[in-house]
Amino acid sequence: MNNSQTIQIIGAGLCGSLLALRLGQRGFNVEVFEKRPDLRKVDLSAGRSINLAFSNRGIKAMNLVGLQHKVKPLCIPMYGRMLHDLEGNTTLSPYSGRENEYINSISRNDLNALLLEEAEALANVTIHFNHKCTAVDFENTSSTFYKYENKTEYSRKADVIIGTDGAGSVLRKSYYLGKKFLFSFSQDYLTHGYKELTILPKENGDYKTFKNALHIWGRDAFMLIALPNLDGSFTVTLFLNYDDGEYNFNNLTSENQVRAFFSTYFKDALELMPNLVEDFFKNPTSPLGTVKCSPWHYKGNTLLLGDAAHAIVPFYGQGMNASFEDITEFDALLDKEYNNWESLFKAFESSRKKDTDAIADLAIDNFHEMKGHVNQAIFREKRNLEMAFEKTFPDLYASKYALVTFNENIGYRQAMLRGRAQDKAILNMLADGDITMPLNITDRTWLEETLKQVQIETD
Ligand code: FAD
Repeated sequence: MNNSQTIQIIGAGLCGSLLALRLGQRGFNVEVFEKRPDLRKVDLSAGRSINLAFSNRGIKAMNLVGLQHKVKPLCIPMYGRMLHDLEGNTTLSPYSGRENEYINSISRNDLNALLLEEAEALANVTIHFNHKCTAVDFENTSSTFYKYENKTEYSRKADVIIGTDGAGSVLRKSYYLGKKFLFSFSQDYLTHGYKELTILPKENGDYKTFKNALHIWGRDAFMLIALPNLDGSFTVTLFLNYDDGEYNFNNLTSENQVRAFFSTYFKDALELMPNLVEDFFKNPTSPLGTVKCSPWHYKGNTLLLGDAAHAIVPFYGQGMNASFEDITEFDALLDKEYNNWESLFKAFESSRKKDTDAIADLAIDNFHEMKGHVNQAIFREKRNLEMAFEKTFPDLYASKYALVTFNENIGYRQAMLRGRAQDKAILNMLADGDITMPLNITDRTWLEETLKQVQIETD
């Protein structure tokens, strides 16, 4: 593709700033427009997931732009789920039976700032902050921006416009409102929303609870999770129904109710959060939803990437990782011989959408797993079995979670299909007595053949 062209990027979040960096490295003229102020200069963290689980698909993208050595120091490894029961007892459930398979907690701001820094250092990349896109004329490849500084509106043309403007994308809205082509769109909200809280560090700066895990207080109808930050604090997220159940976001309106809720269900967390009530009433409650749409592009003029194309609920820790993987996959197509942007965009969507649809569905499944199943004995048995399999057959078996999270070389859809087929095969083996726990295998060769067969069938 001719890199003397100008590519306009709407939105300098995680996906947009990585895209700007990569296209800049490839020599394109890149102009980025971001509605918010520069997060390197203004504190924008309030109310937006402050830290994120960052894993192999994201790391692959950082390697692509040569940045993983700068990202690594920002990461805190989380080796497993630390499960907290009602009495405050804890169990560490590792993410994998293989060493070196773990996820990382990373600050959204630090990562976004690094990507902006690197992109802006390139002479052919310009980033305009405080410029809000208000409309896109996809037929003429032109966007309208509102400039907060002097309250003026202006239009800007480009050779190609890419919308990385998140779940509420203006580019996507323009497809929908434009009614110039058949555009399918769905947005499904969960009945649960989320609110962020904090476990502050000890006075000496130490962590108040175990640092290297993703903490989960799963309570069936709702749950609390906590991820560590570099400063010794944890960002805690409460996922709760808006209006169903004894306690919900709409009826937690007084200090006493909030305390009663936490002391009943999250007693050990409450002890770590003297600041709970203040945080609870200060921080916003936000919705969670899944966005699916198609097509992602209009001819060769415009394209949606990241959450703008496929926002998902956060329960697999994959939204950002998937958005980063968009860039890796898109970039790989730039090396191929496409005559024009339209054929490249078409090829991208047809290979990518099945994977983003799959992770959207897996993320919903994991919502139920995290809030409920993790507490059940059968879930723990299954996890133990998965880990025993991973240790016994390191080259033949990886759990569904491991395939999604740690195997960046297969797509989400393949990971989903293989993971589900393996689960089914293992349940059958258990039912037939071919394996028993603790892992005792009656016929190893046969079992290896079965696992190989599952791989072949899902390749
Ligand atoms: P965004 O991050 O939403 O960025 C969009 C950017 O566009 C923003 O900077 C915005 O200001 C800008 N913008 C929007 N509209 C306009 C406009 N009109 N004009 C100009 N600019 C505009 N993912 C993970 O991988 N791991 C996790 O653990 C994880 N946890 C999460 C927890 C929560 C509670 C939530 C809500 C999400 C989580 N995610 C996680 C998902 C992750 O946050 C998103 O997938 C990721 O931020 C998508 O990046 P993006 O750049 O596509 O969109």
